[in-house]
Amino acid sequence: MLNYFRRKRRDRWLAQHPIADELWLPVTTMPVLKNLSVSELARLRELAAWFLHTKAISPKGELIFSDPMRVILAAQAVLPILNLGFEAYDDWQEIIIYPSQFLAHSRHIDPIGVVHEGEQLLAGQARGDGPVLFSWHDVMEGPWLDGWNVVIHELAHKLDMRNGGHANGYPALHHGMNHDDWKSAFSDAFAHLESLAHSGEPSDIDLYAATNPAECFAVLSEVFFERPLLLQETYPAVYTQLAQFYKQDPVERLHPLRYRPVPHFYEAFL
Ligand SMILES: [Zn+2]
Repeated sequence: MLNYFRRKRRDRWLAQHPIADELWLPVTTMPVLKNLSVSELARLRELAAWFLHTKAISPKGELIFSDPMRVILAAQAVLPILNLGFEAYDDWQEIIIYPSQFLAHSRHIDPIGVVHEGEQLLAGQARGDGPVLFSWHDVMEGPWLDGWNVVIHELAHKLDMRNGGHANGYPALHHGMNHDDWKSAFSDAFAHLESLAHSGEPSDIDLYAATNPAECFAVLSEVFFERPLLLQETYPAVYTQLAQFYKQDPVERLHPLRYRPVPHFYEAFL
């Protein structure tokens, strides 16, 4: 019942506060949103409006965070939850945004148990205790279909954290998804990425994915939305799992020709 009233209140607010056309229409030309249907874009616009209404965005340094900048951030941020609903981001509230890459305290334990602490220059960070941090410069680099998207990366970590507070590459799966299938798809991909990282062989997929299973899930989520065909051809089982997890099929959206039968008039030339 509570959810019903919350939803009603949200729908009422959204009906009264749409993102203005002059802010929204330029954003729909971002490559990462290419070929979304009219109804998907309408849903994305509502999610983006609610995102900007409910998340506190704190710019740092000399950054003046204008309305067009807010919409560019929000449209990328809600793409992963287009078919999951806004509740998927309900458990965190704050975004801190820096003009460019920023120094953050880092701590990790290596495979032999040694703790490494220090400061690291970051494009983004999803903190387990709440806020998500971004470099605006990197947010602006995000929407190209090149496999790099700091917004999708950090928010994948946030989705991963929903079932236990820390990211480990094993987010809560939807009803009907199989844990063994997820585990086997991702551990095979991770092992392969690790072997590439150790051998020094080139890779089209950022080998930061070989850092640990949490980074593997976040990096492959970026590739899923931005270079889906590469992911489907390299790690088809991971593509299938992510399509079920995000409830989207970006290969079908971004590469529709793959699915179209050859038109008759071409057959004469084959
Ligand atoms: Zn990460």
